[in-house]
Amino acid sequence: MTVTAQGPLPGHTYDVAVVGAGVVGCAVARELARHPRLRIALVEAQDDVGQGTSKANTAILHTGFDATPGTLEARLVREGHQRLAAYAAECGIPVEEVGALLVAWDEEQLAALPRLAEKAERNDYPHTRLLGAEELYTREPHLGPGALGALHVPGESIICPWTTTLAYATQAVRAGVDLHLNTRVEQLSRDAARGHLLTTARGTLRARHLVNAAGLHADSLDRELGHDDFTVTPRRGQLIVHDKLARPLVRHILLPVPTALGKGVLVAPTVYGNVLLGPTAEDLDDKRATGSTAEGLALLREQGGRILPALLREEVTAVYAGLRAATEHEDYRIHAHPGQAYVTVGGIRSTGLTASLAIAAHVVGLLTGTGLDAGPARDLDPVRMPSLGEAFPRPHQRPELIAADPEYGTLVCHCERVSRGEIRDALASTIPPRTLDGLRRRTRARAGRCQGFYCGAAVRQLFEEART
Ligand SMILES: Cc1cc2nc3c(=O)[nH]c(=O)nc-3n(C[C@H](O)[C@H](O)[C@H](O)COP(=O)(O)OP(=O)(O)OC[C@H]3O[C@@H](n4cnc5c(N)ncnc54)[C@H](O)[C@@H]3O)c2cc1C
Repeated sequence: MTVTAQGPLPGHTYDVAVVGAGVVGCAVARELARHPRLRIALVEAQDDVGQGTSKANTAILHTGFDATPGTLEARLVREGHQRLAAYAAECGIPVEEVGALLVAWDEEQLAALPRLAEKAERNDYPHTRLLGAEELYTREPHLGPGALGALHVPGESIICPWTTTLAYATQAVRAGVDLHLNTRVEQLSRDAARGHLLTTARGTLRARHLVNAAGLHADSLDRELGHDDFTVTPRRGQLIVHDKLARPLVRHILLPVPTALGKGVLVAPTVYGNVLLGPTAEDLDDKRATGSTAEGLALLREQGGRILPALLREEVTAVYAGLRAATEHEDYRIHAHPGQAYVTVGGIRSTGLTASLAIAAHVVGLLTGTGLDAGPARDLDPVRMPSLGEAFPRPHQRPELIAADPEYGTLVCHCERVSRGEIRDALASTIPPRTLDGLRRRTRARAGRCQGFYCGAAVRQLFEEART
C-alpha cells in the first residue's frame, strides 16, 4: 500500500497514470486496480483525495430521469446510479432513497410535468408519478403555499460524497495503486518510445497510458497534448446547510421544474441529518472562486423561503460553494486518443458523483482501445467505510461495539456525536487525513452546529498526537 505526499516520485514507468483524485479519478483508479497485472499511479495536486469539486456538491444520487436522452451522460448516470447504489450498500456508504418531488408553482410548470415524465421514460426510468396538490401537501406539509402539483421520482437518493471518493481511493490503494498527493502535474509530454512524461513539483513521473481526470483543469492538460476540444467555465454553486433541527421540515428532495437556465434551487435532506438549500449557478472565470457571496446567499434564501418558509427560521450550520466543470458542450467530454495512449475525462459537470463508477468502466474500456493490455480482472477485497449516516447505527449507538472497545463510547464531538474511537480509526486508516478538514470529512468531527467551538481543541490534540 503506497500513499506518498512528499519526496521524489518513483523512477519506474507505470502502465497507467490517472491525473486527479476526485470522485472520477479515484473511481477510474479503482476500476483499473481490478487488473493485477497493471502498475497504476493516481496523481493528485492537493494533499487529500476528493478536495476539488467532489467535496462540495449537492450529494444527490441521481436516477438520470431528467438527463438529455441519448447522451453519454444520460447512459452513464443511469448505469452509475445502479452501480453506486449497490456499491454503497456493500461498503457502508450512507445512502437514503428519500425520493424527489418536482414541484410546480404555476400552470406552465404544471403543464411541463407530463413531458418530464415522458422524458424519464425515454431515459429508462418509468417510475415517476404525477401528484395533485392535495397529495403533495400530505407528503410535504411544510411546503410553501401555492404549489399546484408535483412529479414524484421515487429513486432519487441522498448520499455521502466524501465517503464515496474515499472508499474508491482506499480500495484502489489497498489493491496496489500508488497514490501520490501534493503532486500537481505542471507539464505533459509524450514520445512514442518513452510514453508520457508528467512533470510535477516532485519530479518526473512516467507512464505508458494516461487518464486526464483533472476536473476544472482537464481542459488545460488536454491542450498540453495538443487538443482543443473544450474549455471549462467554472459554474459556481453556493449552498446553505441548515441545522439538524430543520430535518423534520422536509421528507423528499424538493426540486424546481427545470428551465433553460438549469436545474434550479432545491431543498434536500442530507444523510447527516441536515437540510441543504441551493445551489446557485454562476458562470465565472476564476477556477478558485469557491467563496460564498452575500448576493448568492440572499438569492438562495429568497427562493428557499418560497419552497419551505419555515426553513428560514432555522439556524444555519455552514455555507459552502463548489465549481461545476461546465463546458461549451452539452455532454461529457470523454474521448480516447489511441495514437497518444490517452483518455480525456472532461466536462463532468453536475452528475459526476452519481456517474463515477460507470464513467470508470467506460474509461477502462476506452483505455483498452488505446492499446492497454489490462490482463484478467479480479474482484477487489471489499472495504467497510465508517458509518457517518444518521439513518444507520453510528458507533455511539452500538452497545456491543462500545463493550468491546470503550473508545467508541467516549464522545469528542458532541454536535455530531463522534467518538474517540472513530477519530483514532480515521487517523490510522489507509489514506489518513493530513489536515483537520480531512479528518472532518472522514468522521464529521467539527462539522456540527458549533463548527468545532467546543471540540476543536480536543480534536486537534488527537490529530497532532497521531502525527507525531
Ligand atoms: C454545486 C454542485 C452540485 C453538484 N451536485 C451533484 C449531485 O447532487 N450529484 C452528482 O452526482 N453530482 C453533483 N455535482 C457534480 C459532481 O460534484 C462532479 O461532477 C464531480 O465531483 C466531478 O469529479 P471530478 O473527479 O471530475 O472532479 P474533481 O473533484 O474536481 O477532481 C479533480 C481533481 O484533479 C486535481 N487536479 C487538477 N489539476 C491537476 C493537475 N494539474 N495535477 C494533479 N491533479 C490535478 C484536483 O486537485 C482535483 O482533486 C455537483 C457539482 C457542484 C459544483
